[in-house]
Amino acid sequence: MPIASINPTTGATFAEFAEHDAHEVDARIGAAQNAFHALSGTDFATRARWMRSAADLLDADVDAVAELITREMGKTLAQARGEVHKSAKAMRFYADNAETFLSGSALDDPSAVGATAARTVYQPLGVVLAVMPWNYPIWQVVRFAAPALMAGNTGLLKHASNVPQSALYLDSLFERGGFPAGSFGSLLISAGEVEGVIRDRRVVAVTLTGSEPAGRSVAAIAGSEVKHVVLELGGSDPFIVMPSADLDAAVAAAVASRTANNGQACINAKRFIVHADIHDAFVEKFAAAMGALRVGDPLDERTEVGPLATSTGRAELAELVEDALTAGARAVTGGRSPDGDGWFYPPTVLTDVTDRMRLYREEAFGPVAAVYHATDAADALRIANDTTFGLSSAVWTEDAAEEALLTAGLQAGAVFINGMSVSYPELPFGGIKDSGVGRELSAEGIREFCNLKSIWKA
Ligand code: NAP
Repeated sequence: MPIASINPTTGATFAEFAEHDAHEVDARIGAAQNAFHALSGTDFATRARWMRSAADLLDADVDAVAELITREMGKTLAQARGEVHKSAKAMRFYADNAETFLSGSALDDPSAVGATAARTVYQPLGVVLAVMPWNYPIWQVVRFAAPALMAGNTGLLKHASNVPQSALYLDSLFERGGFPAGSFGSLLISAGEVEGVIRDRRVVAVTLTGSEPAGRSVAAIAGSEVKHVVLELGGSDPFIVMPSADLDAAVAAAVASRTANNGQACINAKRFIVHADIHDAFVEKFAAAMGALRVGDPLDERTEVGPLATSTGRAELAELVEDALTAGARAVTGGRSPDGDGWFYPPTVLTDVTDRMRLYREEAFGPVAAVYHATDAADALRIANDTTFGLSSAVWTEDAAEEALLTAGLQAGAVFINGMSVSYPELPFGGIKDSGVGRELSAEGIREFCNLKSIWKA
């Protein structure tokens, strides 16, 4: 893929960048390693001051950065502004909490291990490579970078090829905040060049947020080098609605959860599993609300759903829907790419989806909802777990027994009860099964790239 900003609203390329050559990549890895020596000697208070300063700069840049995000990948301006402020908030969260999260612990009874004292400390590892996707061009990077830098690591970013200007903005952000030069840098390289960076002896670990094939490839390379890896991959999250739920609230959340980020979030609800008693009423309200959304130019403040980010992304989504329709699914609303410029796809609700269709198994990365019938909570659970993914999930019920059954049984990294899946700096974020390994955010996220050292004293 060329490294270029291509406006998904028009299909026009508005900036192109040459890839960094081997010499530049080597220099940037070297700068990150040198910065690690400088950074690991600083204390939490100093790093927190720099991190808060970078957060202030990001907040102050909100209008320019939000417009850049919208032009590069098509989310609405309001959502782009939200992404910028959420990122700054996460930076402050780690500035405030990193020291506590990494304080380690001491054994109450060291004699149990034959010591006079025994404790643990968390120490930074070194240069960490982050391979990141375009769907939240600032947030995905910050939720890695803020904890990594606060722990004393340094970071190298290989961003998605279609958001190079977001990558270049982030390239200087942390240095502008006060971090030593080289603490965080962008590599303008193709996916094919990632292997060489992972294998570089100066790079100690890698994190990837993106698709399952990319995750498998990166993990295999990291594994062969015995380097730590965190993977945040795809999802096909279930959204279960039972008869006791507030139907209108569930429908409103279903629409928001399926169309946030133009339907291109890993934790968008994608499979709607609805009890048979309320299935038809849910479908009617859901399809009406999805069909009424205003689709258009994401720079227009009135727009609710913008275009998909790439032409291939739209083509893949259209193929998935076509496959389902050909095999007997019914489009209650949407279901067909519009003519004209830009990579738009209408909010779509499909019923009668069966396990013979690709849509049953694969992630729909766009505003396409598949609605399934369930006979009871146990049946809903069976359908929800009949997937290779396990990222997040949502359950709508007022019945305590159903809530207990579903919360315990859902194979996912998170369950949201009477709400939609959202990421918060305070809560661990990540998946099981093919949705990934490891956790981001919270105390868990900052500890991923640390050496947990045990110290024993006779
Ligand atoms: P993608 O193709 O996997 O791209 C993500 C990043 O990986 C990009 O920087 C890409 O570079 C790079 N990449 C692709 N193939 C690679 C390979 N073989 N080796 C090394 N790097 C490689 O993902 P996408 O389709 O753009 O993004 C959407 C996917 O990300 C969806 O599945 C979504 O669910 C998932 N996602 C997950 C989370 C989460 O937290 N779990 C969050 C957001 C998105 P190029 O751009 O140069 O190809």
